[in-house]
Amino acid sequence: MEKFVTNKNALKLALLITIFVFQYVAVWSGEDARITDIRFWQSPEEAQVVMDISSPPRVSPVSELRDGTLYFDIENCAFRPGRQRYPLQNPFLEVLTVQQSAEHRVRVFFRVPDGVEAKTFVLPVTASKGDRIVIFLREPQAQLIKRRNAELSEVNRLKAENVKIVVLDPGHGGEDPGTRNNGIIEKNYVMTMGKLIKAYFDRDPRFKAVLTRDGDYIIPLQRRREIAEHLGADAFVSLHVNYNSRKAIRGIEVYYESPRGAVGEAERLVAEMENQVDFGGVVDNTSVVKREIVERQAAIMNKSRQLAERAEVQLAASVVELPSRGVKRAGFKVLHSMAMPSILVEFGYTSNLQDVAVLKNYNARTRMAQGVYLGVRDFLLNPIQEGLDTSYLDYIRTAEANKKALAARRKAAQAKKAESKKKAGRYRVKAGDTLSKIAVQHKVPLARILNLNNISSKHVIKVGDTILIPAK
Ligand SMILES: [Zn+2]
Repeated sequence: MEKFVTNKNALKLALLITIFVFQYVAVWSGEDARITDIRFWQSPEEAQVVMDISSPPRVSPVSELRDGTLYFDIENCAFRPGRQRYPLQNPFLEVLTVQQSAEHRVRVFFRVPDGVEAKTFVLPVTASKGDRIVIFLREPQAQLIKRRNAELSEVNRLKAENVKIVVLDPGHGGEDPGTRNNGIIEKNYVMTMGKLIKAYFDRDPRFKAVLTRDGDYIIPLQRRREIAEHLGADAFVSLHVNYNSRKAIRGIEVYYESPRGAVGEAERLVAEMENQVDFGGVVDNTSVVKREIVERQAAIMNKSRQLAERAEVQLAASVVELPSRGVKRAGFKVLHSMAMPSILVEFGYTSNLQDVAVLKNYNARTRMAQGVYLGVRDFLLNPIQEGLDTSYLDYIRTAEANKKALAARRKAAQAKKAESKKKAGRYRVKAGDTLSKIAVQHKVPLARILNLNNISSKHVIKVGDTILIPAK
């Protein structure tokens, strides 16, 4: 059926093209873009078809055939095999057909199961990637909710038995490979590490480890921590390997939220809250809400620091071949959560050959995984020191004091200016006047005239304009 429809359309199109071919050729100059690769990524919740295009594509909106097949056109484009059918038969995509439907035009047909949402967009060139067309597919909402609830009830059953939930987050994935250097591709490397660490937790009945992704696909940063928040995780660990153009830099780093990153997040949350308030709603509790947010952040940050310290100690002891660069702070988006202590581990530098040798060594990898497990275990089984991160509170206090001081300085300057305006004389511009002539005539510096009148030296005066002259 699909094949028939495809051909029928192609035929109709071919006829049209034949009729208009001369006009078309007349406006067409330059080479056709080519589709150089087609990839398919799939997570439990969504899938992506990614097509690499050799130059910026012009893509038509998606249309629907009578049988429900969707399609769009790529103009000024050529497809080498002429026609290719990909029977994917998975929960997101039944079939994808790419076809040279006319000269300089490729038509892409795809069919999704009932309820799957499809969106098509073009991704522009980046430093590491060319132009791409993406078909983004999302699982039906009802199915998503059902699946998430099933996960949640399983986790809640474990929690009732006092099992601690640890969320491990292998960074990057799918279209985002992370750093790629000396034979290490970050997204794959951290996936392996995630599975190794999970294996340690799985052998320990006191813990349940959950991976944010278990395949090669991308998840937005915010979603990674939302997965952990949804499960009410006790700890969140994001896994990465590092890169630096200075090849001598090496070693392990464990990060937790920085004051700067947290204050950005606090401001975002306050702004979000204010945007939710209807017109005429109450917004004068902003400072109270902000203080509450800051306190919750400071409490979690205090725990994150302890988690980072335990992980760092255990990692440094487990892999002595890798120097430890210690516990650090950074405003990584994935660490912004206020629901659970969160850290980010960088297992060495792919840009350093000594680190690479260790990273590739199976025995060392196993010990690194064990180090993370032991650090998190240490943190979750031993008493956690409750309290607030004082450096964050200091940071907030300083930032607020600076803001207040700046506002006060601005206000004083404005008052002073208003006062000088009141005392100023008035001069009416005559023919032949210039600003500098007026300044000389009144024996006041030009800069003061410009400042008082809120004008620049490039300002053009006209006869009859009134110029304020500063009092001496
Ligand atoms: Zn990374």
